[in-house]
Amino acid sequence: MDQIKAYGVLNATQPLGPLQIIRRLIGANDVAINITYCGVCHSDIHQARNEWRNSLYPMVPGHEIVGIVADVGTNVKKFKIGDKVGVGCLVDSCRDCLDCREGLEQFCLKPIFTYNCLEKDNKTLAQGGYSTKIVVDQDFVLRIPDNLPLDQAAPLLCAGITTYSPLHHWNVGPGKRVAIIGLGGLGHMAVKIAHAMKAEVTVLSRTLDKGDDAKRLGSDHVYATNDPKTFEKLSRHFDLIINTVSVKLDWGAYLGLLKRDGCMVLLGVPTDAPELQASPLIMARRSLAGSLIGGIKETQEMLNFCGQHNITSDIELISIDKINEAYERIIKADVKYRFVIDIASLK
Ligand SMILES: [Zn+2]
Ligand SMILES: [Zn+2]
Repeated sequence: MDQIKAYGVLNATQPLGPLQIIRRLIGANDVAINITYCGVCHSDIHQARNEWRNSLYPMVPGHEIVGIVADVGTNVKKFKIGDKVGVGCLVDSCRDCLDCREGLEQFCLKPIFTYNCLEKDNKTLAQGGYSTKIVVDQDFVLRIPDNLPLDQAAPLLCAGITTYSPLHHWNVGPGKRVAIIGLGGLGHMAVKIAHAMKAEVTVLSRTLDKGDDAKRLGSDHVYATNDPKTFEKLSRHFDLIINTVSVKLDWGAYLGLLKRDGCMVLLGVPTDAPELQASPLIMARRSLAGSLIGGIKETQEMLNFCGQHNITSDIELISIDKINEAYERIIKADVKYRFVIDIASLK
């Protein structure tokens, strides 16, 4: 066992603070990673504060992990000491169900999440990336392209794959019109990736406040959704809508912006379920879908795509002692566009 420094919570009500945690010794198929940076995802806050009512404590959050390989087990052929690697939301799965066999481990019924989950031994609590080191099975370790700066690449491991996967699955490419609802951590990645896929990209934001930024990130158009004319003007306009926000919206009104056979994909989970009439779906054979991160194979494809197109996240790099402040700012949507922790500040 290896005792290491981390930052986390002992219960739902206290702020994050320093913790000591144990990492398993490296097994034959394991890769030990010295963590250099970890992104801060909104779901870290939900889980640290037990807002999904399933939290296990003590908890070290963090599933946008990047670092350098420190050691490899005897069976590890894919990685060597010194490689730039990442770990996202999953550190293992059952490997046997249909979803696992098809490379869609995120839909496995027994996934092992990076934190707030039991490890494969069914007793050790998995702990995330707000820590100096992690040990992960080689099959769940991702390679970070050499040209991407590690700090800016960290958010690709959750925000990047969460947006790439639906864009890829619904065949976004040249000639396709894609709308992105919300320009936050997920939305800004969706804009960059959809633009690199050569789609015509529109940001739908409550106001035009983030208009210049949306254009800089690669959006062709920006519309304010607090202006009712937007919904008239863009009626039956889009092939795909990626809804990145977790607040209650009038889904029916947004479905009206889709062409025949268009699809709106939900990435966020509103606590208040919106009401939905069947008519906007029926009248143009539209669909409403959801999407959850991505499998390991697709996550590597996303990283390679981002390497080829030089795509990373816009980040604010923070030291670990600023994490509680960062949580408050994320809740107020006051970050452009992702906080990343410099893990050197924890050592
Ligand atoms: Zn996340
Ligand atoms: Zn499975």
